[in-house]
Amino acid sequence: VEYDRRKTAEDQLPELPEVETIVRDLSARIVGRRIARLRVRLNKIVRTGPRRASALAAGETVRRVSRRGKFIVLHLSGDKYLVVHLKMTGQFLWGPVVRNWPEYVHVMVDFDDGKALYYRDIRQFGYFLALSAADYTRWLEDTLLGPDPFQISADDFAAALQRRKGRIKALLLDQKFLSGLGNIYVDECLFAAGIHPLCPADQLDADAARRLHGEMTAILKQAIRMRGSTTRDYVGLAGAAGRYQERHLVYGKTGGYCPTCGTPIRRIVSAGRGTHFCPCCQPEP
Ligand SMILES: [Zn+2]
Repeated sequence: VEYDRRKTAEDQLPELPEVETIVRDLSARIVGRRIARLRVRLNKIVRTGPRRASALAAGETVRRVSRRGKFIVLHLSGDKYLVVHLKMTGQFLWGPVVRNWPEYVHVMVDFDDGKALYYRDIRQFGYFLALSAADYTRWLEDTLLGPDPFQISADDFAAALQRRKGRIKALLLDQKFLSGLGNIYVDECLFAAGIHPLCPADQLDADAARRLHGEMTAILKQAIRMRGSTTRDYVGLAGAAGRYQERHLVYGKTGGYCPTCGTPIRRIVSAGRGTHFCPCCQPEP
């Protein structure tokens, strides 16, 4: 089968499994390491200002790396924080401290043992924030991120859907409702649960909502085990691609057939995003 992938280029943003993979890779490498200096080549990447970021990070030790939705948070000693969003093409790579800037590398975090973290970003949409404890608290309040799919129970998820009238696809993409999902995993989760992407959220009964929650957490866990989906630029810290794209059943499968019933996969645009589904297994509400 020749899949039509012309229109999937818009979807190359790392989602929860890809960001979680990077967070785990980073944790293994940089926790306990002391930052000698943070260097910035392209100022706009550091939205809180490059000089302030360099001053904030220098001399601090990385205590912990965590994920908030699709954000990466480096918790530094001194109650300081570096928050990173990779957007479309942001990548972290690991290597030695180097004098010359590698191609497309815009920020380098040099550690005092000669190792360095490179932030590489071809499209330059990703960004860093360097935050004090008070600024970090304010950032958490301002971003209003919804719960992580792993943090909300099936019953609470079902109750939250009951209170919303929007279409399920758009709602699952809304980071203020639920944080971490993007276009690829929303399509896969709705297919697995047999739910039409345009179904109004409050029309899903409790069984369908709980089924969606179960499929969602299972798919995300499996995707993390396979180090995420590499459809274009995403790689882990060692530069290796993810493998979950091999398990995609509907996303990017326009021109192919439903693996369950053989019906041609349909593509529509919902919430401004290409949306892939089986019109037979996911009947219109
Ligand atoms: Zn089907």
